[in-house]
Amino acid sequence: MAVARTARVIGTERMGSDTLLLDLLATEPLRFIGGQYLILDSRIVLPSGKAVKRAYSLLTSDAEQLRFQLAVKRIPNGPGSAFVHGLEAGMDISFSGPWGKFVPREGASGSTLILATDTGITAALGFVHATRFAPLLPKTLLIWLRSSSDYFLPEEFVRERIPAECGEMRIEAIPAIGHPERIPHARGILRQVMSRAGLAQAFIAGDGVVNQAVLDDLVAAGVPASRDNVESFFNMPKKSA
Ligand SMILES: Cc1cc2nc3c(=O)[nH]c(=O)nc-3n(C[C@H](O)[C@H](O)[C@H](O)COP(=O)(O)OP(=O)(O)OC[C@H]3O[C@@H](n4cnc5c(N)ncnc54)[C@H](O)[C@@H]3O)c2cc1C
Repeated sequence: MAVARTARVIGTERMGSDTLLLDLLATEPLRFIGGQYLILDSRIVLPSGKAVKRAYSLLTSDAEQLRFQLAVKRIPNGPGSAFVHGLEAGMDISFSGPWGKFVPREGASGSTLILATDTGITAALGFVHATRFAPLLPKTLLIWLRSSSDYFLPEEFVRERIPAECGEMRIEAIPAIGHPERIPHARGILRQVMSRAGLAQAFIAGDGVVNQAVLDDLVAAGVPASRDNVESFFNMPKKSA
């Protein structure tokens, strides 16, 4: 069973119409690797009897294990994100983790693609700030695809958070979640990237259906990638797929 841990909210900042940036201080070191996530326990129980516990990726560097940040987009009628958006400085939260295999591999080398869609940019930010990823930064291309310039975190905020050593960073528009052109668009971007450089590894986070299509294309092109290279935040692929 997951051990419950606690952290104190030391600050909150609203970013745009539906995003909250949380500054937190854990009571003990998290012991996380960049790319991993925590599961926040809202302590809300739905009428169905299901507890509202939600995953949020750490977007700050794993060089700092006590103070950390999460960014949460409010989802209409979503109880978990509504709970987070009600948090204020001084409140304590309960969580489990860190969880997840979406972390840089030790001893890896060569060119890396990190492709984030939508809110998946949090996992990508945590990933590029992993201490063990630092040697790979100069040969890294980070792409963030989102449906509009006011989606989730502001572009300037994200750009400022990219380490200066990162080889290249691109922020581009993609058709909205669920749009029939979304997957072809993402695949087209991947084709362009693969045509110009040999990729040693690739990591994908965000919309599960985009992740699945991109993972299939990476594998077909011979880029070493498995489900451990993927973090889906929503539109989860079926377990049997
Ligand atoms: C590993 C992991 C890491 C995550 N990290 C973050 C993070 O850093 N920041 C963040 O805001 N969210 C993140 N999420 C999503 C988060 O866990 C919740 O799903 C989200 O906050 C909605 O919860 P809710 O209770 O408000 O809504 P629910 O009632 O649970 O959700 C309603 C529906 O919205 C879907 N949904 C969730 N996110 C989105 C989205 N961006 N766009 C469209 N539909 C969506 C859900 O899958 C569900 O189908 C992450 C999810 C996973 C699995």
